[in-house]
This record gives sequence, C-alpha cells and structure tokens, in this order.
Amino acid sequence: MPQLIDLSQEIYQGMPVYKGHLKTVIWEHASHAETAQNFEGGFSFQSRGVLLCDHGPTHVDAISHLDPRPEAPTIDQMSLEVFYGPGTCIDVSHRGPHAYITALDMDRGVEVARANVQRGDILLIYTGTADRFGGTPEYTWEYPGLDESASNWLVEHGIKTFGVDTPSPDNPVSKTYPCHMMCRAHGMTHYENLANLRAVVGKRFTFMGFPLKFRAGTGSPVRAVALVED
Ligand SMILES: [Zn+2]
Repeated sequence: MPQLIDLSQEIYQGMPVYKGHLKTVIWEHASHAETAQNFEGGFSFQSRGVLLCDHGPTHVDAISHLDPRPEAPTIDQMSLEVFYGPGTCIDVSHRGPHAYITALDMDRGVEVARANVQRGDILLIYTGTADRFGGTPEYTWEYPGLDESASNWLVEHGIKTFGVDTPSPDNPVSKTYPCHMMCRAHGMTHYENLANLRAVVGKRFTFMGFPLKFRAGTGSPVRAVALVED
C-alpha cells in the first residue's frame, strides 16, 4: 500500500523562529459564538488570523530570496516541477551542531542510508536536528551546514532540489553561506525546517512540497510529504 509520510513541522504561536525572522502570530478572528448571530438554523463558523514569515516553518526558498538579480524567479514564477518528483534521503547525522558537512560526509551519508541517489532527484538530508531540538530555542542555532564541497556534490550528482531538517543548509556560524551561494549560481532551491526525515532515510519516494502562490513571494511555507510505494 502506498504510504504518505508527513515531513512538516507544526505551526503555532510561540514557535522558535530563525534569528531575524518574523515571529508566528495566530489569533482567533471569528468565533462560532460570534458568527452564529449572522445565521438562522444553527450554522456558525470559526476562522483565525495568521501572521507568518514567508520563510516560516517548513518552507521552500524562491530563487529571488537568495539571488538579488532582478531576473531571479519569485516563488510564483517557479515551475511546479521543482517542488515535486522522485527522491531519496541520506543520513549525515554523524555531523553535530556547527560542524561543516563535506563532500566526503555526503558520500558517507549515502552509504549509511544505503540510498540510491539518482540524477534529477529531490534529495533530503537527515541531520537529526529537528528530532533532537525541534520546538526548542536550541533548534534555531544548534545545527551543522554544508560546506562548498558538499554544495558542489549536489550539483555533480544532478540533484534537482534538496531539503534539510534544520533552519538552513548553511552552517549558522558561517559568514559566507556557501550552500546558498551555490543555489544562487545554479538556480537550485531547497526546503528548510523539514521534520521526520528519519522515517524516509534510504527509501525511494515521490516528494511533494508545493508553495503557496504568493505574488512575487520570496518563499513559502509548504506541507512536505513523501509518498512511499513499498
Ligand atoms: Zn534557504
């Protein structure tokens, strides 16, 4: 039976967010008690207001987020193909907070996961950060990041799109963000703040994580899901 595996983090007021990002604010906009007065026969509804960074929770970057050139596509201009397709997940959880993940670590991550990485894949990179620190302030700072060699590894392996279970594929102690710079140079995007990646390490699956159609958006929250066939 095909199985849908949720790879998304929960969205709630008070959730820790990446340094400098807008905090998540959610409020009751209309309650059942209020709206019941507008109807006869018992109907009512409730709705909420939400203030969210467009790089909030589990999200995907638009190229325009990391590339200042005016021709860099915004989220609504990017092909849906980028956000959907076959993929797998490697395991680099041997690298702890503030460590640099190298090309050798990527090779080891493939071996450990016994993953079959194919050209054109959406590659998920399990660091264990969301498992270890998810929902705590440590989550926004205590994670490893890809160095230039690991970023180039993604290009050399023909990866279409990738994703991490951390706030960023770049090391929080880095001042140069080599992975985002690689994405700028190659027009490649990525998912951040994925969750539950351990459940898909080494598996082949169809990944989907579609952004909302924000006009000129720099990114968008997504519901990230892996469809596993076996
Ligand atoms: Zn990013």
